[in-house]
Amino acid sequence: MKDWLTHRARTSPGKVGLVAAETGEEWSYAALDEAVDELAGRLVGLGVRAGDHVGTLVGTRPVAVELVHAVMRLGAVLVPLNRRLTVQELGEQVRVSGLTVLVCDGETEDRADEAAGAVPVASVDDPERTAVARLEDWSPKAVSPADWEHDDTLALLFTSGTTGTPKAVTLTMGNVFSSAVASAFRLGVTPGDRWLVALSLYHMGGLAPLYRSTLYGSVVVLRGEFEPGAAADDIGTYDVTGVSLVPTMLTRMLDSRGTLAASLRFVLLGGAPATEELVRRCRDYSVPVHPTYGMTETASQIATALPEEAFEHPGTVGRPLLWTELTVVDDAGDPLPAGESGELVVSGPTVTPGYYGDQAATEAAFGPHGLRTGDVGHVDEAGRVYVSNRLDDRIVTGGENVDPGEVVGALRAHPGVADAAVVGLPDETWGERVAALVVPSDPELTAEDVTAHCRERIAGYKLPRTVGFADELPRTASGTVSREAVREALLSLGE
Ligand code: ATP
Ligand code: MG
Repeated sequence: MKDWLTHRARTSPGKVGLVAAETGEEWSYAALDEAVDELAGRLVGLGVRAGDHVGTLVGTRPVAVELVHAVMRLGAVLVPLNRRLTVQELGEQVRVSGLTVLVCDGETEDRADEAAGAVPVASVDDPERTAVARLEDWSPKAVSPADWEHDDTLALLFTSGTTGTPKAVTLTMGNVFSSAVASAFRLGVTPGDRWLVALSLYHMGGLAPLYRSTLYGSVVVLRGEFEPGAAADDIGTYDVTGVSLVPTMLTRMLDSRGTLAASLRFVLLGGAPATEELVRRCRDYSVPVHPTYGMTETASQIATALPEEAFEHPGTVGRPLLWTELTVVDDAGDPLPAGESGELVVSGPTVTPGYYGDQAATEAAFGPHGLRTGDVGHVDEAGRVYVSNRLDDRIVTGGENVDPGEVVGALRAHPGVADAAVVGLPDETWGERVAALVVPSDPELTAEDVTAHCRERIAGYKLPRTVGFADELPRTASGTVSREAVREALLSLGE
């Protein structure tokens, strides 16, 4: 198949495909197609060929959308990098992903140049650094859209790095295509939908709605910098029908505007658990919330809940998407019956063939039932999926297993606790001890209050032995709580 924008420009050239939320500027599919053709032609001038790895380090702006399409048109591999990383982290990702070229913008050129090593850097803006080329200086070469096979690599995406160094996930055309189709099928996406993209385009959270919208001919309304009030207002201004968010973003949008415009049909929440409190708020304000569960390795969603399911069954992320098989296994890797909790293992056409250039990590990740997600959860009798926490997060103290999710639940039930994260810290006597980082909503809250409250709810061995306080929980760029940073914060208390 050809790239999806080529198809759109042929079948619905006059339809608006992209809107920049900040300025209201619009691109028809034909206009977008023309801009993408020119950009692809300049990349060819720069030396990019089918199969080459094109790194991008650009802000969430229309040219970033054009780059996604241009790389697809050339049959090259998109490697979008996270602007928040340090030069050292970026350098590592440039090396791991085997880039042919790194495309930056005015804001990122310094770091791109420092991180790129021998890899040529070109900017979509006017560069100040002499080592950085200006993409515009290459006169566009004629481009004929590449033919994609199912197994061709479409993108390398880095995981968020919640559990360690981010891993480069290979995603094929087949992975991204089946993910887009299965999610559209679950939601009932149509060309009439208008999707607000407020998540970054270096993560599947932002890319999935973009790919899906191009495939289905829906409109993408691109919001550059996330500001909760402005994002909430975009929904009314542009008659937005769908948006993907991490839960904290939705909380902040509701805090700033109370409710969201009635044009909305889908509010997809992913990347981290949606709290019951947030889901209840959505029910009270008629916000059509869809808690989802997914990971980079599955090109976005594994399971997606419909609003009525989310309201009636608190904590569920819904059922697996079309074609996706989810198995719950015990520590020996054997399947468990419905209702029992174990590691979630996933298989189906959206699942990555593996980690780029890392055979050992790939082999470790796959078992007889598919890809090991590293997440713990269960599936109920009706097939609804529940995710509790990560396998690595299970705390073993004095030989007893503690589920940090349960302790977090007990902590959150205290009216003076706004949020909390629970990890295991090394302990000479017990192997590990339970430790909690608490975000208080009551400034008077003490560690003793917290412990006394938990004692009434959970067994003694599950009680947090170390309690620290913070203004907010440390999060990764995709919004997941960074266990590593929580651990460090709690360890530094003892110093
Ligand atoms: P790394 O793999 O580098 O440690 P990461 O797993 O956080 O980072 P992502 O692929 O961005 O990187 O995130 C996928 C993970 O996010 C899932 O494996 C799961 O742990 C978590 N997650 C996603 N959705 C949910 C959800 N609804 N509830 C709980 N956890 C979720
Ligand atoms: Mg992961």
